[in-house]
Amino acid sequence: MRFIDEYRNVELGKRLIERIHYRSTKPIRLMEFCGGHTATIFKHGIRQLLPPTIEMLSGPGCPVCVTANADLDKAIALARIPDVIITTFGDMLKVPGSYSSLQQVKAEGGDIRVVYSTQDALNIARRNPSKSVVFLGIGFETTAPTIAASVLEAAREGIGNYYVLSLHKLCPPVIKALLDSGEVKLDGIVCPGHVSAIIGSHPYEFIPHDYKIACVISGFEPLDVLLCIYMLVVQIENGEHKVEIAYRRGVTPEGNHRALEVLDIVFKPCEANWRGIGTVPESGLRLRKEYRRFDAEYAFKIEVEPPHEPAGCLCGDILRGVKIPLDCKLFRSVCSPEHPVGPCMVSSEGSCSTYYQYGEVHG
Ligand code: SF4
Repeated sequence: MRFIDEYRNVELGKRLIERIHYRSTKPIRLMEFCGGHTATIFKHGIRQLLPPTIEMLSGPGCPVCVTANADLDKAIALARIPDVIITTFGDMLKVPGSYSSLQQVKAEGGDIRVVYSTQDALNIARRNPSKSVVFLGIGFETTAPTIAASVLEAAREGIGNYYVLSLHKLCPPVIKALLDSGEVKLDGIVCPGHVSAIIGSHPYEFIPHDYKIACVISGFEPLDVLLCIYMLVVQIENGEHKVEIAYRRGVTPEGNHRALEVLDIVFKPCEANWRGIGTVPESGLRLRKEYRRFDAEYAFKIEVEPPHEPAGCLCGDILRGVKIPLDCKLFRSVCSPEHPVGPCMVSSEGSCSTYYQYGEVHG
């Protein structure tokens, strides 16, 4: 299949691995920010093919996982309001909040519908004018533009019963927060591919400049990730720090102008609450004043109890890269994809789910 097979070519993969072994002479620590990269690395056994000089850590790049319980509880509270239809991507259903989950509310009679796009949500709003339809806006810069576009469409058409609960997150500010915390020492970052297709490579420039950390943007096929690791190793071995793109077929330095424009028309950056990390300035998106009538937080009185985390769950530490799923006593014994205790076991991009599916080998 075009754009897949050529990025899984075994001979090319072997050559890249040889070159990584040849160039890597000193111990380095790399973080793959994105859960999609963690999945590729585990699925294709990449960690085991790397020299012992390279340590890979998983970062917080799973939008479902980083949604704080306080925010998830708001979505669950909205789902309990009469005549409200919640529309969401499927991953969110099973994520446990502090006291319940969307799946549980649905089982109790709540109207919660899994959709595949904001168009589906808008159609539900059009077909149900007497109900309020709330779309759960959970995702990074990748998904936010389509949600912004849905708000513009609703405004154009005068759809008055469509709302967004904006829990979006922005990646560069949280990378800064992680680096500022000093909890993890990194030599290089495998930067997210899909997010960068929207924002480009420029927003990462502060990382090499301020923190002397190498950055390479990667795609999601095994050769993409191997090329990215190779480019990181070369930078670090040469004593360089810069932002490079190993995913040229998806990412340009400037990003996607149209998507960024739509995003900026509807949303503005705001403080956001990240699971395990806490509040990070300018790392979320709020609807601008002109579109406030579509903001679920303004339209509804949402009442929630103080949030709490599931006992024994280490998702917060895992998302900061200071623990791995194998450090959690509940992993596999109590917590599994069928019975997830925390979000990192629910989402296909969650580290615990990846460890569960593809192996548990350290390193
Ligand atoms: Fe949380 Fe389960 Fe992962 Fe443990 S294994 S950190 S309980 S999601």
